Amino acid sequence: MLKQSIWEKAGSIPAKFWNEGRADFPVYDMHGHMGSHYGIYMARGEAPEMVAHLKRIGVRHLCFSHHEALFGTEGNALAVEMCRRFPDTLRMYVGINPNFPEKIKRDLAMFDKWQPYAVGLKFLADYHKVPVTDPRYEYALKFASERKLPVLNHTWGTSPYAGGKVMLDLVTKWSEPKFFLGHCIFGEWDYAERCVKESAGNVWLELTAVPGERGRIEDLVRRVGSKRILYGTDLPWFDEYQAVGGVVSADISEDDMRNILYRNAESILGKDW
Ligand SMILES: [Zn+2]
Repeated sequence: MLKQSIWEKAGSIPAKFWNEGRADFPVYDMHGHMGSHYGIYMARGEAPEMVAHLKRIGVRHLCFSHHEALFGTEGNALAVEMCRRFPDTLRMYVGINPNFPEKIKRDLAMFDKWQPYAVGLKFLADYHKVPVTDPRYEYALKFASERKLPVLNHTWGTSPYAGGKVMLDLVTKWSEPKFFLGHCIFGEWDYAERCVKESAGNVWLELTAVPGERGRIEDLVRRVGSKRILYGTDLPWFDEYQAVGGVVSADISEDDMRNILYRNAESILGKDW
């Protein structure tokens, strides 16, 4: 009864969260957003409230893509502005909309000027209705390859744009970008496992939406190992406490929890980013 013993152990990671609401290590949330959205009411959708909430639970950095960048065309510059206002906490993915090739070129030309805030790219193929294997992503993929950048992909099981089959094609074709598979190709767990195992070691599964599924974190740790799993929430869509709660309630070791909540992010991006 591993879970019970960890919970009961004073000073364990779960005990710390239950009793103090935070850990004694930094957490990295590798999947966030910002700004209002037509699909939902956000209790905390703008930078000041989001940052206050992140500090409450001890998230050191949130990597986010702005809704204005994903659903409009001018939001990447806005995301940088927010990072500059909260430089200790916020980092960004440059949102890539394959329907606007000139905007992609314009924004990636700014990538170096947006340091140290821009850490990678974000693809949202399901919403942009362009499969990740489409040539319209190639400019961005070449850019990410040259710099070995993280590329956070929204993925979802059976999607023709970002489901298991196309994701496997993508990650086995491109060996240089660091692919983070948001939502772990939710529902197509076999494909998620194959993407990790059949790629050149450049794929991590990102947990957004998964902590709500009982037993799934344990299953993914068994399949690919905790060193291939990243913590993320979709904040402000979902909450930090629910997602951390899912990780520290899972029947996995404290080492696994540490890997997921911070060690993997630090091994990819370093301790000082
Ligand atoms: Zn998302």
